[in-house]
Amino acid sequence: MSNNEAPTNENAPSREIRNGGELALLETIPGHVWSTDPVGRFTFRNRSMESFFGGGFPRDLGDWLERVHTDDQRPVAETWQASIDTGQPLESAHRLCGIDDKYRWFRVSGRPVRDVFGHILAWHGQTIDIEDEKRAAEELRARSIELSLLVDIVPSHVWLMAPEGTTTTVNKHMADFLGLDLSNAGNVEAVMETIFHPDDSEPVRSELGRCLATGESFSMSYRLLRADDTFRWMLGRVEPIRDKDGNIVQWFGLCHDIEDQVQAAAALRRSAEQLAHAARAANLSQLAASIAHEINQPLTAVVTDSEVCVRWLSADPPNVERGKQAAERVTQDALSALDIVGRIRALFRRQPQTRTMEDINRLVTEVVALMSDEFSANMTRVDMELGVHLPTVALDRIQVQQVLVNLIRNGIQAMDGTNPARALKIKSTCDPANAILVSVEDAGTGFTHPDRVFEPFFTTKSNGMGMGLPICRSIVEAHGGRLWVENNLTGGATVSFTLPATET
Ligand code: ADP
Repeated sequence: MSNNEAPTNENAPSREIRNGGELALLETIPGHVWSTDPVGRFTFRNRSMESFFGGGFPRDLGDWLERVHTDDQRPVAETWQASIDTGQPLESAHRLCGIDDKYRWFRVSGRPVRDVFGHILAWHGQTIDIEDEKRAAEELRARSIELSLLVDIVPSHVWLMAPEGTTTTVNKHMADFLGLDLSNAGNVEAVMETIFHPDDSEPVRSELGRCLATGESFSMSYRLLRADDTFRWMLGRVEPIRDKDGNIVQWFGLCHDIEDQVQAAAALRRSAEQLAHAARAANLSQLAASIAHEINQPLTAVVTDSEVCVRWLSADPPNVERGKQAAERVTQDALSALDIVGRIRALFRRQPQTRTMEDINRLVTEVVALMSDEFSANMTRVDMELGVHLPTVALDRIQVQQVLVNLIRNGIQAMDGTNPARALKIKSTCDPANAILVSVEDAGTGFTHPDRVFEPFFTTKSNGMGMGLPICRSIVEAHGGRLWVENNLTGGATVSFTLPATET
């Protein structure tokens, strides 16, 4: 740098050449104001500059360079020299050492003053203390490095988008997942175009578009293409970051890999389906047993009544009237069997059962009348305590009849040979929850295994099948009711069931 000619006379500061107003302005301006001649000798330094460097200093660029931090000296020397050589404006930021021996950052700007021929007459410049600014920027940089380190170690995918939705940053975790080379910023946006599963791409785009337009948060599950070319389910959220006026300055995105949860849920669904399948298969065997049980009853009756019919007709003289009655019962029994078969068929056709509005007391009375022969054959008395003004119930007549027949027959059988005064009590009431309650109470043996009687095929009878009570319970439950058993304190057992009433 040329700084060794015509040293500046430090005792003759050029501020005298200014008029009073300009001088006052230059002295009060915050920052250093200076002038040099064309070769870099200082011709003016304002007071602020002198108090920083010390009186009369610097005299020229050589002095100035002495005060520049050693790390900055080379670039500063080159910049200054280039400006002096070419006349280009001078711009530089570097550390300068003050009279207090402390370095501070400054921004230096200088402009040449030329004569009419373009020759440089002088350089005027300004040096502004940017130490605080520099320190704040440094802190900010350190914090942003800290933050990006943090963001990179978060085991989630993190990305940032500009207010209009351009992806600007992705964290290392996400870049590794996508197989993205972060050294090329252009890659980021380009890759974003191809990472979504074809089925999810459009929904994601449209939802994101809606959020960008409205400023609402985005939350959605979608599949992302991993670097190894496999798609994985992700749960993505994007939140807007706003300035103090509420304007969106950035979007912050976070997404978690939920592939394992999705797979676990799918496995759970599969096992639930398998379970349902197994349950259906179990029901089928139950159903087969129930068909056998249900059809067995009318068929047994057919056999008994046919025998009765033959007996009456083979009597001497033949009792045609009684034989006719027995033959009619055979027809009835056969029709019952047909009816059962018809309902089973309907079940397989998934047809709804026929439900009609019924008075439960009438149904009970009809069943008791139908079973009158059984009662007399078993010397069983029937007491009926039927509630008055009971609401009607929507039910499948035949099915509920079956329930009543089963419970009554079980009661009769339980009293077989045990009780000389065999009495069966059938009650009907309406409970406060407006459900009809029917109970069949006997004076028999009571339940030996009340906890097992609803298990299919549980029976204590030599000729029993163990399907009566399970079927009764499933019929009642299909009607929205409950069926349960209990032993009476005074001996015997009671089986009760409820049916929801449909009108009062
Ligand atoms: P099954 O009558 O073919 O044995 P159920 O399901 O009707 O089948 O009954 C299962 C078992 O419950 C019977 O074997 C019997 O041990 C018991 N049980 C049913 N009803 C009564 C009752 N009223 N009193 C005592 N035990 C009963």
